[in-house]
Amino acid sequence: MNKADILIIGGGLTGLTLAYLLKETDLKVALVEARNRLGGRILTVGGKDQATVEMGATWLGPAHTKLQSLLDELGLKTFRQRLGSKAIYEPTSMSPHQLVTLPDGAAT
Ligand SMILES: Cc1cc2nc3c(=O)[nH]c(=O)nc-3n(C[C@H](O)[C@H](O)[C@H](O)COP(=O)(O)OP(=O)(O)OC[C@H]3O[C@@H](n4cnc5c(N)ncnc54)[C@H](O)[C@@H]3O)c2cc1C
Repeated sequence: MNKADILIIGGGLTGLTLAYLLKETDLKVALVEARNRLGGRILTVGGKDQATVEMGATWLGPAHTKLQSLLDELGLKTFRQRLGSKAIYEPTSMSPHQLVTLPDGAAT
């Protein structure tokens, strides 16, 4: 069995970003993930014949400069949130859902 210099526990955004950054070094890196998929709290469900729903990370704004740099480096595009629309929002799983108007803002 090959030995790793660094073991990253968790294949969410943090672990995957760390593994990506460590590719620039000579260190042998291993990453373990408890689930049968990578991404952690970043999860997109639906698609094809269903509406696509983001179950985790969705928005970023001008303050997220490091995340934006990473997206640029990886060639990943963002798009502006459609504003002025209604959305169903459930603050917690125990509270009733509400119909809200999406706020005007710089979120993408
Ligand atoms: C509903 C929701 C909405 C969100 N919206 C936004 C947003 O709009 N904008 C934004 O910037 N962020 C948002 N976030 C937050 C964002 O998703 C998280 O900050 C980010 O994904 C966390 O990444 P992480 O790698 O630190 O942790 P995680 O994504 O939690 O990854 C940790 C990983 O480690 C694994 N793991 C844990 N223990 C072990 C173990 N012992 N062995 C092996 N693997 C293990 C887990 O299975 C998981 O895959 C949202 C989150 C949620 C849930």
